[in-house]
Amino acid sequence: GVPVCECNGCYSGSDCSQLLLDCPADLDSGDPLFLEVYWQEHAASSAVVFSGWHRMSYITNGQSNSFISDELDKNIRLLHQVVGNAIVDDKLIILGAGSSQLINALVYALSSSSSNANSSSPALVVASIPYYPFYKAQTTLFQTRHYAWEGDASNLVNSSADNIIEFVTSPNNPDGQMKHSVVRGAAVIYDHAYYWPHFAAIQAPADGDVMLFTNSKVSGHAGSRFGWALIKDEQVYLRAIEYMQLNTMGTSHDTQLRILKLIKVMIAEQGGEKDIFEFGYNTLKARWSRLSNLISSSNRFSLQQLSPQYCNYFKKIRDPSPAYAWLKCEREEDEDCNKVLENAGIISRGGALFEAGSHYTRISLIKNQDYFELFMKRMEALVSNSSSSA
Ligand code: PMP
Repeated sequence: GVPVCECNGCYSGSDCSQLLLDCPADLDSGDPLFLEVYWQEHAASSAVVFSGWHRMSYITNGQSNSFISDELDKNIRLLHQVVGNAIVDDKLIILGAGSSQLINALVYALSSSSSNANSSSPALVVASIPYYPFYKAQTTLFQTRHYAWEGDASNLVNSSADNIIEFVTSPNNPDGQMKHSVVRGAAVIYDHAYYWPHFAAIQAPADGDVMLFTNSKVSGHAGSRFGWALIKDEQVYLRAIEYMQLNTMGTSHDTQLRILKLIKVMIAEQGGEKDIFEFGYNTLKARWSRLSNLISSSNRFSLQQLSPQYCNYFKKIRDPSPAYAWLKCEREEDEDCNKVLENAGIISRGGALFEAGSHYTRISLIKNQDYFELFMKRMEALVSNSSSSA
């Protein structure tokens, strides 16, 4: 007989490709499945196969204890160079199981680096509101006598403390704004997860001393758990390597092989008809344009303000194409915006998680197209109901 397919969650049909229309439009997570179609079109060229004996050792062919293969190190640098989003020549590269693993590795490395090590009080870890909730969750979970979560960076703008670590997410999650450090003298961890042409104009190569990137948001392979940091100072780098050594003894060599292949495909297609950045930008630009047109006709909701900008990568002025919509419910009575959407069959992530208050909620624009279509249908209904009853 015909094999029965057990589909995930809201999908059905013999090949599990049919989204069930009575399912909620789940746009809570930043799962980057908008790129799945791209890789379906590169199924053969992006495939990797390796035999049983391959890469069994703890050690890579790279520098001792660096846990990265020379070939991958070279190709990550090349990717940044062709995109023009980071200066790599004077930086060292460290890998993590997703950039998630590197978040705490870098806090550890910076809190124990020379200027902080002599301080008797723990380093204070901060970020500007609204911020990606993981920084707080991880720092709180792992905090030691060397560092502790302090919260809103704006409280420390005039601080004289010499041991502050500031997360600067640029473009920002949730609102897509380009952000800068606000605490003078802080050791900054720039999280550039979204500084790729899919999501934002590349205005200049980023050159922070400590910068985080993730494969999850550039190729879309979140499930491979692969991120990297570019680090200028060798002592900071060695402390981060020490953390990795004690934590996981490096990053899976199998994953490194897969990522190497994906990066090579992205570099090979760059500038041509199948440029992943063109694809990513066009997809997200179209989504943002449809959503912002709809919201502009409503006085119940508003979106973050983003404007067209010159992009060095595309060599033209480009429209906004953020990873998330940061929606605000304008009416006093819509105090819980997340709930307002939930009642209309849309799952989002409430603003309180980002310390921004519950009038805000975050909607992921980077999932697959059918989720986005389902969301737009529900949102159109919500906007038109709202205006008739207003
Ligand atoms: N930083 C930011 C700003 C993110 O949005 C995310 C994922 N949503 C991450 C880091 C972590 O991603 P990953 O662990 O998949 O690399």
